[in-house]
Amino acid sequence: MLIAGNWKMFKGPGETDAFLGAFEPPAGVEVAVCPPFVSLAAAVASGRTVYAQNVHWEPEGAYTGEVSAGMLLELGVHGALVGHSERRQLFGETDETVARRARAALEAGLRVIACVGETLEQRASGDTDLVLTIQVEAIAFAVGEHERLVLAYEPVWAIGTGKSATPEQAQAAHAFIKRLLDRPVLYGGSVKPENAADLLGLASVDGALVGGASLEPDTFGAICRAAASSS
Ligand code: PEP
Repeated sequence: MLIAGNWKMFKGPGETDAFLGAFEPPAGVEVAVCPPFVSLAAAVASGRTVYAQNVHWEPEGAYTGEVSAGMLLELGVHGALVGHSERRQLFGETDETVARRARAALEAGLRVIACVGETLEQRASGDTDLVLTIQVEAIAFAVGEHERLVLAYEPVWAIGTGKSATPEQAQAAHAFIKRLLDRPVLYGGSVKPENAADLLGLASVDGALVGGASLEPDTFGAICRAAASSS
């Protein structure tokens, strides 16, 4: 069971120090934090498991604003998210670039959490399985069942909305994804202490990617404890 906290564009190095000083992960669950790039060094210094929020596919070059897998490894970072829906929707990330980022990160030695998920319109028009197939197949084609790869099912309509998928919706999507690519699948989308046990208790849910509720040690700790009890 892996619980990863995606801090998005919150917490500079000072707040990262303060959070990790106050937060003690419970035994029996793997916990990772994903701070902004500028806070990665502070997070690594805490001794916790740390993922970047993105990673470029080239080792170096004229790619302003990007960071490579080798640079992250040099800093002591353990892994990277790729394909978060905010990257796909706001920054032009495509299935191809997500797959390239995943492949480069895994080949360099990082762990990867690759995010997939449908929009509300796609779910409403009955296209959830089609969208998941296209997104997962792109990753599968690039890296296969790599042992350091984990997927995250994050329905876009559930991210930051307070409206999580129902346990039935999550179970169906996770089982579908695992049939496409046999790797652990985290659930992400409005996970909070109140719904964590129900979601994390599902047979096909192998952990959670938590956004808003990972920003406070108390709420993140409560989700991690729910995961430890479901393991
Ligand atoms: C996320 O950012 O990956 C996420 C799932 O956000 P939230 O938990 O706030 O919905």
